Amino acid sequence: MRKLMAANWKMYKTSTEATATIEKLSTLLGGSAPAGREVLIFAPFTALEAAATAMRTFHNGSVGAQNMYPAEEGAFTGEISPAMIKSCGASWVLAGHSERRHLLGENDDFIGRKLRFALEKNLNVMLCVGETLEERERGELPIVLERQITLALAGVTAEALPHLALAYEPVWAIGTGRTAEMDDIQEAHSLLKSLVKKHFGKDCKVPILYGGSVKAENASAILALDNVDGVLVGGASLQAESFTKIVTA
Ligand code: PEP
Repeated sequence: MRKLMAANWKMYKTSTEATATIEKLSTLLGGSAPAGREVLIFAPFTALEAAATAMRTFHNGSVGAQNMYPAEEGAFTGEISPAMIKSCGASWVLAGHSERRHLLGENDDFIGRKLRFALEKNLNVMLCVGETLEERERGELPIVLERQITLALAGVTAEALPHLALAYEPVWAIGTGRTAEMDDIQEAHSLLKSLVKKHFGKDCKVPILYGGSVKAENASAILALDNVDGVLVGGASLQAESFTKIVTA
């Protein structure tokens, strides 16, 4: 399976900065990701169109939004619909990122509604799941992952499989500089693999990415794990130079 090298730019970069970063990334990578790898950038809404335009000159690359609202249109002040995202040239959306769960109060039901609506509107969805430090210390990793996966995927059929990716992002490793141990990553990824199998009733080729303080120094060890299908990178994706080192790791 190809490895997805995903960048989450969070609330960083104007459209001009987004264009410059992608142009630099493209130059450093010689116009395309290495064979077997694909670059995906989750840009802020205001930079989506610029990012998608810049990405058109880049092979094996696409752009996604970091959020959306699960409705066609309507009186939802400040929100963005799937059609608006697609009109910018973006084809992916993130759902369930821990910053939205924990800072913005999104719960599993709402995340599930977003995921189903995005799939219905032909967006590809990357669902982020992961436990807090307290949950980990209480030995609740399997329960937390099962709850997050079950509620987010409720009603999702195998037809959606080509449009779905998962990212295991332990909350305690996001933006903290603390990366999960290789054994922890393996354990969580195999739990997720079996939860996906249980939900769809068969082995599925859903990519499962790892995210949480990925950087040039640890990317190749993480990518070498046999059940890791890519990485979701926050801080280290903001500079073209450091993200290039990860994409080529
Ligand atoms: C993220 O925002 O999804 C993330 C993994 O951030 P960081 O790489 O900075 O930990």
